[in-house]
Amino acid sequence: MNAFVETSNPARAGIKSPLVMGYEVVIGFETHAQLSTQSKIFSRAATAFGAEPNTQACAVDLALPGTLPVMNKGAVERAIQFGLAIGAHVAPKSIFARKNYFYPDLPKGYQISQFEIPVVQGGEIEFFLGDQKMSVRLERAHLEEDAGKSLHEDFVGQTGIDLNRAGTPLLEIVTQPDMRSSLEAVAYAKELHKIVTWIGISDGNMQEGSFRCDANVSVRKPGEPLGTRREVKNLNSFKFMQQAIDYEVRWQIEQIEDGHAIQQATVLFNPDTGETRAMRTKEDAADYRYFPDPDLPPLVIADEWVERVRSEMTELPRVMAQRFVADYGLSDYDASALTQSRAMAAYFEAAAKACGQPKLVSNWIMGEVSRRLNQDGGAIENAPVTPGALGWLISRINDGTISNNNGKVAFDHLWKGANVAGSSLSAPSSTLHAMGTVGEQVDQVIESLGLKQMNDSGELEKIVDDVLAANPKNVEEYKAGNGKALNALVGQIMKGSKGKANPQQVNDLLRQKLD
Ligand code: ADP
Ligand code: MG
Repeated sequence: MNAFVETSNPARAGIKSPLVMGYEVVIGFETHAQLSTQSKIFSRAATAFGAEPNTQACAVDLALPGTLPVMNKGAVERAIQFGLAIGAHVAPKSIFARKNYFYPDLPKGYQISQFEIPVVQGGEIEFFLGDQKMSVRLERAHLEEDAGKSLHEDFVGQTGIDLNRAGTPLLEIVTQPDMRSSLEAVAYAKELHKIVTWIGISDGNMQEGSFRCDANVSVRKPGEPLGTRREVKNLNSFKFMQQAIDYEVRWQIEQIEDGHAIQQATVLFNPDTGETRAMRTKEDAADYRYFPDPDLPPLVIADEWVERVRSEMTELPRVMAQRFVADYGLSDYDASALTQSRAMAAYFEAAAKACGQPKLVSNWIMGEVSRRLNQDGGAIENAPVTPGALGWLISRINDGTISNNNGKVAFDHLWKGANVAGSSLSAPSSTLHAMGTVGEQVDQVIESLGLKQMNDSGELEKIVDDVLAANPKNVEEYKAGNGKALNALVGQIMKGSKGKANPQQVNDLLRQKLD
């Protein structure tokens, strides 16, 4: 369909694309996001996942003669939300078209989609790849219906047809061929996934097929025109996405190096072998004979509708990230990481509010909290250490009650406390709550583990004196002008205090005594 002119994306000026064996990789994505409406795009049947086959297909979905499609307003509204979220043009008038082909799971003999005039036009997705800011331009996003499912495994020698999925609303989101590596493609897909789930237009459940990506991949020598692409269909995990693209890139380069031309083809990725295999080539590609669907009027979206949707929209991750930079002084990178999900952003803001130390909170979330979540495979909304508790702990570090290192010990204990049986902190958090405020609980952990920094100067002074007496050589060296000798003494004192001495205080005391 669209031939892409090779335009350089000004938002990416100066970004060098990595080469693979001397080849530049070019990737464009088509993503089907299932929209989160209760009912189908042109009928009132339910869209819930996992129902008994054919219990959620009404006369329209079965294509019974005489039935007519009726547009679901909720699906349009979600398309508008998406368009606004990515800075696209929401077309005031777009057209539904019939895409004609025969398949047993498509009883009408055509899919209702949008072709020449899609509802969402242009826009771009920005994200970080490492600390490099990337921008991928979107070609379009259009509304369409999903087809049914063929069930090959359940019946010997026969194929079952389940039409529950027929008519499920999809938004197909198409990029320009802007991506230059599998890593970038995965980062793009993650960002897109974040946006659709953040604004709530899709549940994004990849196992259930609510977010499926087709990766168009080609390679070329730098400076050459775009190579012929192959399209890897239906990638439903970020891991497979990366594996499939990496395999495809290597395969294409080998073909070219062996003197073969790449044939345009649709291929499938087999996760068991890690390989892609052609499903159909261009020769037998369908001619869909698109034409405007006479059963549906043009989709007209008035400005007022767009403005109402805009006014009701939640703060977008990109806008929120900018606010984090402006209001909390975070780096672009940290702000982007903290807006990976609404839950993460909410956790950050709650903890920052609790202690007034946004930068420290950011460091803790990117460090200890993320590390723990990764280990446990849990979601931040269920983190055993609440934002209030983290905020309190950070205040305690900040006011010198405990050292940063011991703060980590307390954090660890609080984290485990929620699921380790037998300790005084093993009670479920609701019970813990009854025991006192979050702050009291955190203080109690600090107290019971003996993590408090030594603020009793008498006790500290005794340790300092003992260490000075036991290390006359270091004292000599320091007095002779060797500054490093002081560090050795500080180390001994910290050890003597079991890490509880305040290093600043130790330094002050030592200088008092030695200078
Ligand atoms: P179709 O609808 O026939 O699959 P399109 O022309 O709409 O084709 O392109 C689909 C996707 O393929 C888009 O995401 C586009 O960016 C990408 N694409 C187009 N040409 C190439 C190419 N040479 N290499 C990689 N991706 C490409
Ligand atoms: Mg395609």
